[in-house]
Amino acid sequence: MFENLSERLERSFKVLKGQGQITEINVAETMKDVRKALLEADVNFKVAKDFCNRVKAEAMGQNVINSVEPRQLMVKIVHDELAKFMGGEQAPFNVDGNPAVILMSGLQGSGKTTFSGKLANRLKEGKKKKPLLAACDVYRPAAIEQLKTVGQAIGVPVYSEPESKDPVAIALHAIDEAKKTGCDVVIVDTAGRLAVDEEMMKEIKNIKDAIKPNETLFVVDSMTGQDAVNTAKAFNDRLDFDGVVLTKLDGDTRGGAAVSIRAVVNKPIKFVGTGEKMGEIDAFNPNGMADRILG
Ligand code: GDP
Repeated sequence: MFENLSERLERSFKVLKGQGQITEINVAETMKDVRKALLEADVNFKVAKDFCNRVKAEAMGQNVINSVEPRQLMVKIVHDELAKFMGGEQAPFNVDGNPAVILMSGLQGSGKTTFSGKLANRLKEGKKKKPLLAACDVYRPAAIEQLKTVGQAIGVPVYSEPESKDPVAIALHAIDEAKKTGCDVVIVDTAGRLAVDEEMMKEIKNIKDAIKPNETLFVVDSMTGQDAVNTAKAFNDRLDFDGVVLTKLDGDTRGGAAVSIRAVVNKPIKFVGTGEKMGEIDAFNPNGMADRILG
């Protein structure tokens, strides 16, 4: 993954490599290449522009032109700025409370149900938590079945009310159920739609207002590029979510979503999904991702 972007950057840095002395014009030329690479990686236009301006200012400030090893310094600056752009530090994730409540949001097919299972599994195995999964998709009976299958696979109970059409009530009942059964984390899987629509936004906002989650996560398919950024913005405007889950990073993605989402919605990417299996989840690490992008 990210080959396009890292190859482009590598190539643009090679231009710098051959030169004994670097001039301001060289730096500007290189930034053009970096910007092109970011755009080709499907990074949002404004984000790419802002990023390059930051790198350029940093390069001038650190006096790249007169440094002993300008290429290395330039690579370091691009790397550090890229990591900073993606949030800098690993973002905290709050599962304190009895029960803690995590609300999932996102479009249909983004990977919400799969990720709900992965997160439950991670909390159970790594943090010795007792999760409960709540099925709040009242439109697709298959969604309840899918969550039950996931729950069974990881040994986590699933709360559902197949006859109910009231996702707010189901979520509240799931929290009661958790208290009764000694579960300390409730992960609320909600209905997705194929596109952002008013009704869906209202519904999930109502759920959020009623259950007051510790964390509202927005799940997005990283392979959807620019759309991922637009969807993130639409959800954030309504829901003011706490963090982003970037799924399907194992796919043939060019990495643009990771770079722009953070910059556009100013919310941290907290987790990534790297496959269909329950263990294929990682905490998002901006430094590691910058390493990966730059190769
Ligand atoms: P939902 O509609 O948002 O609940 O999405 P699902 O959890 O049903 O996921 C949609 C499809 O994406 C399923 O086929 C999942 O197996 C697949 N999927 C989810 N996360 C990942 C991931 O990180 N990598 C890959 N390759 N596939 C994923």
